[in-house]
Amino acid sequence: MITDINPLQKTHLTRIVATLGPASFNELGIEQLIHAGVDVFRINFSHGDHKQHSETIRRVRAVCRRLNKHISILQDLGGPKLRINELDEDHIHLYPGESICLRDGVEKGDKTCIGFTDEDWFDQVKPGERVVLGDGIIHLQIERKGKSELECKVLSGGVLRARAGLNFPESDLNLGAMRPKDWEDLKFGLENNVDVVALSFVQGPEDLIKVREVMKDYEFDPILIAKIERPEAVERIDDILEHSGGIMVARGDLGISVPLQKVPTIQKFLIKKAREQRKLVITATQMLESMTTSPMPTRAEVTDVANAVFDGTDAVMLSGETAIGVDPPLVVRRMSDILIEAEANAIFPTLPKTDRSMDSAISQVVPMLVKEIESKLVVSPLTSGSTAVRISRQRIGVPILAGVSTERDARRIRIYHAVNPVVVDKEASFMDNLRYIMQLATELKLVQEGDYTVVTGGLPLDRPGVTNFLRVVKVGDEI
Ligand code: PGA
Ligand code: MN
Repeated sequence: MITDINPLQKTHLTRIVATLGPASFNELGIEQLIHAGVDVFRINFSHGDHKQHSETIRRVRAVCRRLNKHISILQDLGGPKLRINELDEDHIHLYPGESICLRDGVEKGDKTCIGFTDEDWFDQVKPGERVVLGDGIIHLQIERKGKSELECKVLSGGVLRARAGLNFPESDLNLGAMRPKDWEDLKFGLENNVDVVALSFVQGPEDLIKVREVMKDYEFDPILIAKIERPEAVERIDDILEHSGGIMVARGDLGISVPLQKVPTIQKFLIKKAREQRKLVITATQMLESMTTSPMPTRAEVTDVANAVFDGTDAVMLSGETAIGVDPPLVVRRMSDILIEAEANAIFPTLPKTDRSMDSAISQVVPMLVKEIESKLVVSPLTSGSTAVRISRQRIGVPILAGVSTERDARRIRIYHAVNPVVVDKEASFMDNLRYIMQLATELKLVQEGDYTVVTGGLPLDRPGVTNFLRVVKVGDEI
């Protein structure tokens, strides 16, 4: 029996994306994370090499096969994230007022001079502008610019580690989202059948259009996510949404490139925009950050996760918490508990109707119907994914069991709010599939005899993309 739902526990609807890393990427770690409730694994291509990533992908697929689970893999491309080079010590302290130089080609930096490797950004920075190092704590100001070096003054100090991020929030850097390494990584991801691809530091739709062009050569095109982490991308959000499958509210780098206090408002703005354009949205970074080293999240973190649910996000993401943290499965269990509680109390704004098509009209009435008859479940007996995704967008507050005919379709829809894929037999009749899923739902105690369940989908079956019927089934009655 193929399913992702544990009958004895309430299940979260907001999808959990967990980053794999040294703390979790062995087989046992992956299995424990799946049991804890992960829906999507993220592989961060800013770290590691292809050999390591293909091993991780192989393990995820092997564990999923063994457990009969359909978990998606999200490939996160590093993009133009600039970093300083190595340091001759593990870390160095910088204090306000000190002078420090950034120089091209220095391999191991120290307290007086830090190295970077220039590509094409150096020409675009100017004296007077700010340099931000690491997570945003250390700020420098460029005082003089030489041929291949920047003399800077420390404005606010802190601990600097090797390979820390290097940002120029005040400079007008025109760097596309795809560096040569990203094209290599993308090709690798497509050849390894990743389900979702995320582009870092997207500037505008042109970044996405170029990637789509390459994806055309592959049989299966993954969902394309634009990570919103620079101010230009916030400004061009409508065009970006039009050319992507969805966005990530990438609060880490966003919080460096815009004043930190603007992040909450931008998050709400981006989630609203994505939902209005019927696109996927992931809220990311530092959601349960303190759990990287502690068994308990802070009150502020718990509230932040719940608020992302109230804002209407499809998914929430864990980064260092599961990649390098002390107890990745515990983080996911805590995340799941917070989601379940928040979802039970969330009031989602209804989506404005954008067209008068039958497909959208039917999905529009599903939430009302679910509420009216207290349905615990919505079933789509056989879908290419479109019906399930359409219903998902309405944030109906109950799981959607979506019958799909292939493993790939299952992994592709798994990232959408509330969608739980079930692989069904494509050759079987529509009614047989409906009976099968209803029986499964009963066995899993998702529904009980006498409960009403909303069933929706498209008929005839050979016309994917259509949602044209709605039916209510009473559990136990002849179907
Ligand atoms: P990153 O992206 O973790 O790849 O930097 C997310 C973010 O910036 O929030
Ligand atoms: Mn980022």
